[in-house]
Order: sequence, then structure tokens, then C-alpha cells
Amino acid sequence: MNNYFVILAAGKSKRFHKKISKQFYNYRNKEIIDHSIEKSLDSKLFKKVLVVANNLHHFKKKKYYKDISIIKGGKERSDSSRNALKYLKKYKPKNILIHDAARPNFTIKLLNNLINNLKKNKAVIPYIKSKDTIKYKVKNNLFNLNRDKTFFTQTPQAFRFKELYELSIKQENKITDEATLFIDGDYKVKFIKGEKQNNKITYLDDVKTSKTFFGLGFDIHKLVKNEKLYLGGIRIPFHSGLKGHSDGDVILHAITDAILGATVQKDIGTYFPNTKKFKNIRSFKMLKPIIKNLYKSNFSINNLDINLICEQPKVSKYREKIIDSISKVTNLDKGLINLKGKTVEKLGLIGKEKAIACEVIISITKYD
Ligand code: ZN
Repeated sequence: MNNYFVILAAGKSKRFHKKISKQFYNYRNKEIIDHSIEKSLDSKLFKKVLVVANNLHHFKKKKYYKDISIIKGGKERSDSSRNALKYLKKYKPKNILIHDAARPNFTIKLLNNLINNLKKNKAVIPYIKSKDTIKYKVKNNLFNLNRDKTFFTQTPQAFRFKELYELSIKQENKITDEATLFIDGDYKVKFIKGEKQNNKITYLDDVKTSKTFFGLGFDIHKLVKNEKLYLGGIRIPFHSGLKGHSDGDVILHAITDAILGATVQKDIGTYFPNTKKFKNIRSFKMLKPIIKNLYKSNFSINNLDINLICEQPKVSKYREKIIDSISKVTNLDKGLINLKGKTVEKLGLIGKEKAIACEVIISITKYD
């Protein structure tokens, strides 16, 4: 196991952010660079993990600080890479992997694959096929590159140390990856399948994330004779209706509360108290501003699951109409709304048709 791992992290990442150094940006619960360092240490494949960076003091508080070596980077990526090779020469490495800190998502499986392929090769490079059609510009003329013949190289890239060292010392051009040295020098390069998720983080947009939340809603209203029955925003023909300060629509109330729950905004009573202003208000008028605010805050609804708990009316008879109506109020695709009817075996107040209850669970995702 004479393998060494080099992580290049001295770049200024000007395309990422004016002030934030990309490699220290928080991504999936840790700094971008931590992913590469911790994975390479966890793999137990390397005698040494060497980080090339410019602010060496940054690493002093890290829990892995004692397990890695750190040296200062150069002006360009190729200078940093050469600094690493010069530093490591005294250890007489057999194999060396060079990696850009901006790719936090490679797997240990890929590391194993690279090292295994080094047994019979001097340079092993992971690649993925191009998804896009690429144009090539020569002076003012554009040419199409054949997509089947173009591919993207990734890092880590694996080499025999001796050959890489010699090529790197001789090289004067500012190369952007070490594979270039072997290709330009007409050396044989072994290409292996890279990993789609091992994409390079270049722009702040590349690390924007989404978070999913759940909310629970429950409501119950008393059934009284000669009232209109509203369920899910529509009028249902029935001998009784639900009594409330509003129209008593248990479904829309439970949906409203579920949304408020998922977004940590207290409850429906906070926004629509039992005051004169909201007397006999139709419930879709309460739900609509909550929905509008939800979408305005970059949330989207994943799905809505509803239990309507009553003996009568039979849900199956009105299911489509109710879902249709909820879909309109919430601006949510009908295919994402489920309505279940649940009786209570004639038990209690609901069983005696004195009340109707409803419970709702909602899943929503916030996008940055
Ligand atoms: Zn209610």
C-alpha cells in the first residue's frame, strides 16, 4: 500500500463567490473540502493524505488535523500540484492520486477502482460522457464536436508517481489536470468510468440545497340540522352542516393547519381568530393567502394525504369533486392529493353523526 492522496485546495474560486472560499463552504453538513479529506482517510488506502492550500491555519481546529499533511499551494493549480509532488518525493511513493477539493462526491469504490487499475497502467483517469452537445470555436468559426466522442475527465486521477513526477517537472504550460501531461506526452492512459454525482462545484448554484418538511393538521366540527355542509371547499348535499365561526369546512381547516405546522407558523386560530371580521368566512378564503405565502417563500407541496372521518356522507361519492376543488385552491396537481374515507364503527359522537373530523398530513420542500 504505497499510495498517496493529494487534495488541491489552493484555488481562489473566483467564479463561486467574491468573498467565500469555495473549499470551506458548508455543504451537506460539512465544509466542501472535509468530504474529500475524511473519505480518503476513511478508505485506509493511503500512507499519507496531503492537502495543498493557502490558509494553512484554517485546518488547525479540524479533528483530522493530526492525520494529514498540509503544504502551501502555488499560484496556479499546476504549481500546487508540482509542490505536492516535490514534497512527496522523499517518501518514494509508488502510486499517487491527485484530486480537486471541489469534487466532494466521489466514492471510496472509485478510489479502489483507480488503484486496482494502476497495477497494469501508469495513468488511470475517470471520465463521464457528455450530456450536452459541445461546440468548438476556431477563430470565428464554430464546429460541432461529436457527442459520442467527447467526454469529461474527473478527479481523483491516479498515476505512477515516477512518471507523473518526471512529466510535471518538465511541463511549463498551465495544465488544468494531470491527465493532460500524459496525453500531451503520448503516454498510454487508461480511462475508467467516473461517477455522475462526482461533479465539480464551480458556482454557488451548484451547492444550493432543498429541505423537506412535514405538517400535521386535525379538525373537528359539530354537525347541526339545517346548516350547509362544506367539505374541501364544495357544497355537499346533506341533511346537516358543520357548525363553526366560519363555514366549518374540516378538510380545508386541517389542510391549513398542516401547512402552518410544516412551516412552523403556529395555527389557523392565530391568523383567523373568532372575531367579527371572519364570521361566516368561506374556508378557501383562509387557505388561499396561506398557500400564496407558501409558494412565495419558495416552498412546493410534494403531496397531501387526507382522512375524512365520518359515517355519512360517503366519501367515495364525492371524492373526485372534493379533490378537484382542493387542487384548485392549492394549485396542486390532482395526482398528488389523496382522500380517504374513514368510519368509526358508529362509535362516539362521530359514529352517531353528531360531528365530522378530518386529519391531514402534508409534505413540502423548500428550495434555496
Ligand atoms: Zn375548523
